[in-house]
Amino acid sequence: MTDAANPIQRDPTDQEAGFELNDEFERFPQKNEMFRRSWWDPTIRNAKTEAFYRGHSEPVTIHRRSKGYHQKDYAIRNAAWRISDVLTEVRGEGRREGFTDVFTLQGDVSPRRADLGDPEAAARQIKKAARTLGAALVGITHYDERWQYSARFHDGSGEELPPEIPPGLAHVIVVAVPMPYDIMQTTPSALGSAAAGVGYSRDAALLISLAQFIRDLGYRAIPSMNDTATSIPYAIKAGLGEYGRNGLLITKEYGPRVRLGKVYTDLPLAHDRPIHFGVQEFCRICKRCAESCPAKALPLGEPSFKINNISNRKGVKKWSVNAEKCFGFWAAQNTDCATCIRTCPYNKDYSKWWHRAARRLAGTRLRRIIFALDGYMGYGKRLRPDIWWEREQQEGRPLP
Ligand code: SF4
Ligand code: SF4
Repeated sequence: MTDAANPIQRDPTDQEAGFELNDEFERFPQKNEMFRRSWWDPTIRNAKTEAFYRGHSEPVTIHRRSKGYHQKDYAIRNAAWRISDVLTEVRGEGRREGFTDVFTLQGDVSPRRADLGDPEAAARQIKKAARTLGAALVGITHYDERWQYSARFHDGSGEELPPEIPPGLAHVIVVAVPMPYDIMQTTPSALGSAAAGVGYSRDAALLISLAQFIRDLGYRAIPSMNDTATSIPYAIKAGLGEYGRNGLLITKEYGPRVRLGKVYTDLPLAHDRPIHFGVQEFCRICKRCAESCPAKALPLGEPSFKINNISNRKGVKKWSVNAEKCFGFWAAQNTDCATCIRTCPYNKDYSKWWHRAARRLAGTRLRRIIFALDGYMGYGKRLRPDIWWEREQQEGRPLP
């Protein structure tokens, strides 16, 4: 565990994970995260950001002429988000579980501790349970104070609150849930935003169930989604993928098309190691996400310590997203955007052998050829939302 008084103290596995920190490193207050800023920062909060949030929770009345923004598109978006929204708001009192506060729907810890064997055996069984409960990917790493928010933020009161993770939860189980490939192809659109809603709703249910399983084994377990900490460094350490130019985790199995979550626990578990399959090298030649970003919010250059504004973490060498530009675009079009996920050459259906073969070659010196072929084949192009609704009918295929 990292010493909180010395936040940049190097972790022995930092190098293996590709983390590079300098003396400017500071723990990040959740208040500065872009969505939180849209509640308190007058330079961000405006009529458009308020309409953006209202549009997710009120009965759908929005209808625009453009395809992908009809009433049915907003309706399926809000339906996809519904389970996540209900779980988030269930406690009331301004708690927004999964986003600013940890989930608390799980029951008490059993007074009887089960014996799962040594940490390797316990990790195997936890991973099996996580997959059964809905995780597509699962890895385990250690608790690291550096990635925990220095303070939480309460949207309603505008107060900063102390972190909710108690001491002694030394292990972090990181899970990933994929977002549907075909809906993601329609982004940016209200329909495309349903992909994120499906991911969040499944993620929230999985995290609560997984924590419940561990608590019934007699160990403490706290489920957490976007609250309490930045998930990507944990996911990299847990071996779920590498960091991409689009500011997202790129997994081997789904590319950047995943939502992440974590469960903090004191159940002794063996840890995983970071993986490398050539993402950083590929991103250096690709740049497709940055070139197609409608808000020009992604960097075209090399990873650096440069920050765009207070929503970037200081002291970490990486590709940093300009979240002000990104969220400004979301608010302007009244729904979120995932063009940087859709266009990424790693966003593929890897049940197809040829995509697995291309991914392997993308990690070699043939990466330029693979990149050129990817563009030539037209991957990453937007699917018209009206075609998505009628695709099976038009192609004479049964509904999935
Ligand atoms: S979500 Fe859209 S606007 Fe934001 S960085 Fe990605 S492509 Fe750009
Ligand atoms: S689109 Fe290209 S540059 Fe962007 S994250 Fe994906 S592989 Fe990297």
